[in-house]
Amino acid sequence: MPKTPVIDLSTCSQCEGCVEVCPSVFRKNEAGYIEVLDLSDFAEECVEEAMKFCPAGCIHWEEEDT
Ligand code: SF4
Repeated sequence: MPKTPVIDLSTCSQCEGCVEVCPSVFRKNEAGYIEVLDLSDFAEECVEEAMKFCPAGCIHWEEEDT
């Protein structure tokens, strides 16, 4: 089942660590918030790395219902 990384913006500190670790998945949008790019396939290792790195622990996987 495909899964998507999701950021809990209520706890995200905007440190941009995830963007540095995994720029192919995370980016800072024009409003200044971190967001997940709209991809069909996420580089799992890269996302896991960002999850480990995230000081707020606010990135998690969400399983898609397809
Ligand atoms: S690493 Fe975590 S706290 Fe930092 S910007 Fe990314 S999601 Fe937010």
